[in-house]
Amino acid sequence: MKGEILSIGTELLMGELTDTNSVYIASKAPALGVTIQRMSQVGDDLNALAAAFTQALGRADVVFSTGGLGPTQDDLTREAISLALGEEMTVDPALLEDLEAWFRYRGAPMPPRNKKQATLIPSADVIPNNQGTAPGWWVEKGGKLVIAMPGPPGEMTNIWTHQVSPKLKGRVTGQVIITRNIKTTDLGEADVAERVARYCESDNPYLGIYAKHDGIHLRIIGRGATEEEARELMRPVEEGIVAIMGPHVWGYDDDTPERALAQALTEKGLTLATMESCTGGLLASNITDEPGSSGYFRGGIVAYSSEAKIANGAPPEVIEAHGAISPETAVAMAEAARRGLNADIGVGITGVAGPAEQEGKAVGTVFAAISLESRVKNVALRLPPRRAVVKYRSVTTVLVELCRLLKDL
Ligand code: ATP
Repeated sequence: MKGEILSIGTELLMGELTDTNSVYIASKAPALGVTIQRMSQVGDDLNALAAAFTQALGRADVVFSTGGLGPTQDDLTREAISLALGEEMTVDPALLEDLEAWFRYRGAPMPPRNKKQATLIPSADVIPNNQGTAPGWWVEKGGKLVIAMPGPPGEMTNIWTHQVSPKLKGRVTGQVIITRNIKTTDLGEADVAERVARYCESDNPYLGIYAKHDGIHLRIIGRGATEEEARELMRPVEEGIVAIMGPHVWGYDDDTPERALAQALTEKGLTLATMESCTGGLLASNITDEPGSSGYFRGGIVAYSSEAKIANGAPPEVIEAHGAISPETAVAMAEAARRGLNADIGVGITGVAGPAEQEGKAVGTVFAAISLESRVKNVALRLPPRRAVVKYRSVTTVLVELCRLLKDL
């Protein structure tokens, strides 16, 4: 099936909003047999929107839209679909009752303008939205499909996962395309490419190699008549790559370094504490992005100055002898965090985020250390001399290194 995505909202055209909804849909649709051929962004203008739906339906079998389903004047997606299909919108009593019940539950009367969210056209079925007031529309006409979903990403992805995806799954007519992403660390792009060269010849499954901020990703793309057929084709390639890359593999698909770390720490029943300097708390922030991190994260100290490092347990003689930006100070910080916060593992990060060099060390120099009761692991980095890059690359590397260390315990 051929698909198109319309992201709706003037905010998108003003550069005030990044279109993450399209990216999400484009990443999920191929596995359902829908090949996305075009993605467009359209402002809140009725005629422009109706034209966009008409044109997209002329080219594609299914058109996904997000946004413009709210109650305000500039939410015009329903009106545009009605205009494009030549159908009249009427208020659906059951939908209106649902909407009123939603407002009653939240203890507020329903504003009259929300009534338009209870409208349907004859070709539309409602896609319930249990996370907001904007239900979606599932429209089928003349062998074509329009799937209109609300704009807020949380609502859209919830509707996609629980309603759109299961319903579309039963309708696959074309090829299913499945991807499997293997995430690695430590090795450069060329080195990885050489190791897996034997898998790069094939067209199906196809192997792509991509350099990302958290390492090199190996993406296997498989096509088949069914999901099972595609997965069967991909299995030996995945197994071969994992065997070749061994300890360099740190995660798969949607895994983030902090999620991989959460799993590893939970599995081993270990706790963690951090002391950061140049990353300014970003490590602790990323760790606590994971729900349930209170189960293994004892806490983090941002010790930006030498005084703060010393006040939090780093021995002054180490800093005096080796400097604040040194492998020895990173170890002292890791140990001080581990002991001071009563954790099994301590992490210390110190470095030069820029713009100027410090203690004669160039911008981008970073020393990190991971301290366990019985051993210490040092990490030395020389990163591109840009502040933001130094911060996030240091944090990502430390998280991945922690995962690798935990694997070996
Ligand atoms: P609501 O009832 O919440 O208004 P809606 O369907 O009308 O739902 P919009 O008003 O178009 O949605 O967008 C609401 C918010 O959803 C936007 O302010 C933005 O934060 C987010 N959003 C909308 N479209 C996108 C998109 N394409 N990518 C990422 N976020 C989006």
